[in-house]
Amino acid sequence: MKLTQRVQRIKPSPTLAIDAKAKALKAQGIDVVGFGAGEPDFDTPENIKRAAILAIENGFTKYTAVGGIDALKDVLIEKLKKDNGLTYSREEILVSCGGKHSLYNIAQALFEAGDEVIIPAPYWVSYPDQVLLNDAKPVILETTDKTGFKVLPQQLEKAITPKTKAFILNSPSNPTGAAYTKEEQEKLAAIIVKHGILCISDEIYEKVVYDGFRHVSIASLGEEIKKLTITVNGASKVYSMTGWRMGFSAGPKEWISAMTKIQGQVTSNINSITQKACVEAYQGPQDAVVKMVSEFGRRRDTIVGRLNAIPGVTCLKPKGAFYVFPNISSLFGKKTPAGKKIINSAEFASYLLENHKVAVVSGEGFGAEGFIRLSYATSMENIQKGLDRIEEAAKKLM
Ligand SMILES: *Cc1c(COP(=O)(O)O)cnc(C)c1O
Repeated sequence: MKLTQRVQRIKPSPTLAIDAKAKALKAQGIDVVGFGAGEPDFDTPENIKRAAILAIENGFTKYTAVGGIDALKDVLIEKLKKDNGLTYSREEILVSCGGKHSLYNIAQALFEAGDEVIIPAPYWVSYPDQVLLNDAKPVILETTDKTGFKVLPQQLEKAITPKTKAFILNSPSNPTGAAYTKEEQEKLAAIIVKHGILCISDEIYEKVVYDGFRHVSIASLGEEIKKLTITVNGASKVYSMTGWRMGFSAGPKEWISAMTKIQGQVTSNINSITQKACVEAYQGPQDAVVKMVSEFGRRRDTIVGRLNAIPGVTCLKPKGAFYVFPNISSLFGKKTPAGKKIINSAEFASYLLENHKVAVVSGEGFGAEGFIRLSYATSMENIQKGLDRIEEAAKKLM
């Protein structure tokens, strides 16, 4: 049977692949240090779990409204008002099976053949593939560590053509941890408004920020940009709820209603129990989040310090998320003890995994050759052990 061209255009998620490989080695009893995971290593807070158990006990186990129960939409409306200075009504919110599904609904409702979607690189791996799945064309804007992995306004302006449909902003970013200030976003917003393109703002790491950084939602920068923006967020990263599957989008009613119609024919509502748990997550005590972020902050300092101490490796200190994205291109051209030449990030990543039992994700999956991604959503002990191994591995290259 012939597969569609659509499915042949895309590739499996490289981050899920490396995680699977590391887990398989671990299952064989091999002591692998994994820096691949894109999820917090903390347990879901107790009050959230209790709310889910209560939902089951109370028989809240049936279909709900496609776009989410009112109680959940209402706490999200409150959250958007309080944290982001944004006012939305229930018809302007859609709850989906993770932020990934929120983004996919947007792509389904708004992208088609002939559309161009501007994606800054390094990017989250699913953006280009979701654009491709909907017959549109990803237009990649390269950024480097020299600009702190941020798009310059003139760069965005230059990339816009009559075919441009949307710009995807991800701040704080996966994989770089870069976060845009209010002023930087104001400049981008002005260009978006001038050209009347759609802005998709993925703010899933909003609360995972350091050094007193203040996250600002681009949609809050004025009525005009708000009319062009869909804000995406979710519970996975902030509340350590990756397995529960909850994300949401907030934006103009016309788009949200189209996306809700699509979701109603594809998945219907998200898990009813998850919805009750998320009401508690957003309206209950937030101290678990504060604790988690402060621990991430300690790990960030350690991992950045240790990476920069390795000759040939340079690493920026990220403002948010739980990833570091070191530049390892100075190691290219060197040989492993077995005589194999390291020619790219993928080679370096396999050398680390095969010879030194450390799993990292190679940069090209994020559109950034010359870099690797390490998640520090793992214990301090693992960070120290893994960095000992990377240091050793780099030292052995000649
Ligand atoms: C993890 C992540 C998401 C969404 O994850 P879900 O578990 O589907 O909510 C979206 N965007 C970025 C950048 C992410 O890292």
